[in-house]
Amino acid sequence: MPKQPRTSANKGKVKQAQDVQEAEYKIPYVSGFKAPSARDSRNAIGFTSEIPVDFDPSTNVGVGFEFFPHLPEPTHIDDWLAQYCEEGQTFKQFVKECPWLSSRKRKYMSQEFQPSGQTIKDRYPDGKVYIVPIGDFGERDSELFSSLIEYTSIFLGLPVKSLPKIDLHVGEGKVLWIEEPNNKTGTNRRSSQRTKHHQLTSRFNAETKHIQVCVDSNLMQLRNLIPEDAICMIGLTMLDLYGDDSDLFVAGMAAGNQRVAIFSLYRYDPCLSFSTEHWFQIQEDHDIPQKERQRVTLQRGCKLLVHEICHLLGIDHCIYYDCCMNGSGHLSEDFRQPMHLCPVDLRKLYTLVGFNVVGRYRLLHQYYKNHGFKEEEKWVQKRLKFICS
Ligand SMILES: [Zn+2]
Ligand SMILES: [Zn+2]
Repeated sequence: MPKQPRTSANKGKVKQAQDVQEAEYKIPYVSGFKAPSARDSRNAIGFTSEIPVDFDPSTNVGVGFEFFPHLPEPTHIDDWLAQYCEEGQTFKQFVKECPWLSSRKRKYMSQEFQPSGQTIKDRYPDGKVYIVPIGDFGERDSELFSSLIEYTSIFLGLPVKSLPKIDLHVGEGKVLWIEEPNNKTGTNRRSSQRTKHHQLTSRFNAETKHIQVCVDSNLMQLRNLIPEDAICMIGLTMLDLYGDDSDLFVAGMAAGNQRVAIFSLYRYDPCLSFSTEHWFQIQEDHDIPQKERQRVTLQRGCKLLVHEICHLLGIDHCIYYDCCMNGSGHLSEDFRQPMHLCPVDLRKLYTLVGFNVVGRYRLLHQYYKNHGFKEEEKWVQKRLKFICS
């Protein structure tokens, strides 16, 4: 049986808060995990002869700059690889396993399919990634939403579209999903003329007034709305989510057929810090300037979105380099991971989508510049110089 892409089900299942202290002693990998050697990582890129410069993982000899540091060792017991034994997915494994590269049409897809096509764009010429806001993003965050869409489309090289917002009514410890009549976006067209209200499973703490929504009930609603030409659909919300009662929170979850997922940006707000004991205890720090708050939330949201969509596209967690496809066991591990793909995963996405590597880096460079992501801007600039010189 082909291995399913690992979804984000565990990504947010953390028991720790942002300020996890790094241990002073060495943290072992989880039993059974074997860290790849530098040679294994190089081989995972999948070239038998010389590696083309676009995917060359070498250190930039002239300036001694390391574009792709080796997979970092765990520094905390809750780090992903101290908890989960990943097998890794080489480029060759990806090509063999990826359902989007199969000559058989994917189950549940009703759009046009060209079995002889090379890339996902050739095979599913109408295919789009959809992102749908669930609940209020507010004035502050509507810009965040459109910037996320722009980043995702540059990063993936696929058409990314937003869908009309799904209204939620949040109040009195309850969350209602408001379904407007004749919603024509989905496959499940409803003929009802009435607005319907579905109460979502949630939990509420009367003291702190914090409310969390259960991710399962959300997902069930979302599945009905997937457009026919969707490759996948991501619901994004500013509400805090949980999976089961023992969770502090979850960042999100993907649905059974791997085409629908929902994620929360709530815990990516740098002004908030979270209790490691209770899901409902949250502290707000008002000292962070608004611009910085927006920049950090956007950066964290960008990383989350592309990581999760790459999973939906068949790319597993990375164990070869420091990479945005590394698994993360808690928020601080998530936050310190890079925004870029290592050569193994860049080659997977390149093969799946068929973009021009240099052209994509140029667009990313402009995006990072526009949004004040200084470190990433410098990284791409150096990478472009390395590739093009
Ligand atoms: Zn993941
Ligand atoms: Zn990688």
